[in-house]
Amino acid sequence: MSGRDFDLLVVGAGPAGAAAALEAAGRGLKVGLVDENAAAGGQVHRAPAHPGLNGTAEGAALRARLAASAVVHLPGRSVWHVAPGFSVSCLSPGGSERLSAPRLVLATGTVERIVPVPGAATPGVIGLAAATILLKAHGTHPAGPTVVAGVGPLVYAVAAGLVGAGAAVAAVADLAAPGDWLRRLPALATRPALLRQGVGWMARIRAARVPILFRHTIVSITGEDRVAAVRLAPVDAGWRPRPDGHRTVTASAVAMGHGLIPATDIAAALGAALRDDADSGSRVPVTDAVQRSSVEGLYLAGDGTGLAGAEAAAQAGRLAGLTAAHDAGALDDATFHRAARPLRRARDRAARVGRAVAAAMAPRPGLLGQVTGDTVVCRCEDVDRAAIEAAAAAGARDVNQLKSATRCGMGPCQGRLCGEVAAGILAACHGVDRGAVGRWTVRPPLRPVPMETLLGDFGYADIPKPTFEPR
Ligand SMILES: Cc1cc2nc3c(=O)[nH]c(=O)nc-3n(C[C@H](O)[C@H](O)[C@H](O)COP(=O)(O)OP(=O)(O)OC[C@H]3O[C@@H](n4cnc5c(N)ncnc54)[C@H](O)[C@@H]3O)c2cc1C
Repeated sequence: MSGRDFDLLVVGAGPAGAAAALEAAGRGLKVGLVDENAAAGGQVHRAPAHPGLNGTAEGAALRARLAASAVVHLPGRSVWHVAPGFSVSCLSPGGSERLSAPRLVLATGTVERIVPVPGAATPGVIGLAAATILLKAHGTHPAGPTVVAGVGPLVYAVAAGLVGAGAAVAAVADLAAPGDWLRRLPALATRPALLRQGVGWMARIRAARVPILFRHTIVSITGEDRVAAVRLAPVDAGWRPRPDGHRTVTASAVAMGHGLIPATDIAAALGAALRDDADSGSRVPVTDAVQRSSVEGLYLAGDGTGLAGAEAAAQAGRLAGLTAAHDAGALDDATFHRAARPLRRARDRAARVGRAVAAAMAPRPGLLGQVTGDTVVCRCEDVDRAAIEAAAAAGARDVNQLKSATRCGMGPCQGRLCGEVAAGILAACHGVDRGAVGRWTVRPPLRPVPMETLLGDFGYADIPKPTFEPR
């Protein structure tokens, strides 16, 4: 394992992390910027993986600024462990690598919440995030008619992207009602570009005559070795599926997602204080006004601290970089406060819009109503809802007791995909809020790591064998 030292390490090269790295490097710090993707940009400005595809103009500008800066950009590295102080272990194409710095900015964004339904493991079912990666990075899309379902702007971004790419969209099913979106108009109107983008998506979907079913959800997916049909049901205001009014749509693919969950695994592993967050229905790290966490030397920025959107992420990232530079002694108090003030204002202004959108996709009590007893919740360990309910009935009151009883969250994804759904089911079993069933204990490896990478040149034959003297 090699080692490299920096004044500041930044994990995540989306709008927040890239801005933090650029700001701190501009203030004279030696900055390393780590991301698992091959190019910077994060989710919103994901770089095309093939020549001939166009990414966003902002993404191209951000990558050009990074290339022209003193930031040491370390792409293609998945962080699988962070030790206090800070030592960052990542898996890179060349093996495992250890980076260190006395200060760390975490800007790891979000993971998608996918609430499973019967048949969700059928080939052809993907998340909205996967659909955006196919569209943005690879210029491709699922084959055949696709049902796009869930909640949040990504539903419309994906449906419009599919239509724009010439793909057939069988139906759009949105848990929200038109009124949920109309109530956010005043906030959206303060960012006309975002509003125009949303209206443009809707116009493209309507022009292709795709049925848009508001207040609807998928209740089951059928098909042998490929999606064949998708059953849709209307939901009530609490998103509980109604018993009547179901319809079946013929489709060969499904793209679904039910909002975003801040990625807090590294912050939690480092012991950062967390708070409940209603918009994402999860827990997020606590930050002060200038992006410091409760752990000395640890700063947080972007959607990983709560859903606020790309513009707020970029402003918060700049502020985190500035604060880290100040705390490292690179600028005096007066200069810091003068520079921080406009960044705080810009962050808070942008976050008002982002939070208004996030509130529209905040989980409601009926969200898990589509998960039947035999629906697999934890796919890594094959744990269904009935097993979670049985563990709750047997006394599991906390997510880690649930983990011990069922192995839920113990597989390669370490609960990143299923954790919040399982926690919600456990909370429902006991009639308590999500916060009351605790948080998953986070342990390395945060990402799957091949044993041979960790062991390096180790060979069992090299273990010294004790020789015993005859007595
Ligand atoms: C799939 C998806 C599509 C979206 N599309 C849009 C859109 O079209 N328009 C829009 O306005 N907003 C979109 N959003 C929301 C937008 O992405 C966010 O508001 C914004 O990107 C937040 O920026 P960020 O820097 O906080 O996080 P992100 O942009 O998510 O960046 C976080 C980065 O950290 C990396 N990372 C995380 N964990 C690790 C690790 N352990 N090791 C190494 N790297 C790691 C991730 O790969 C990612 O590159 C989308 C969100 C998602 C999830």
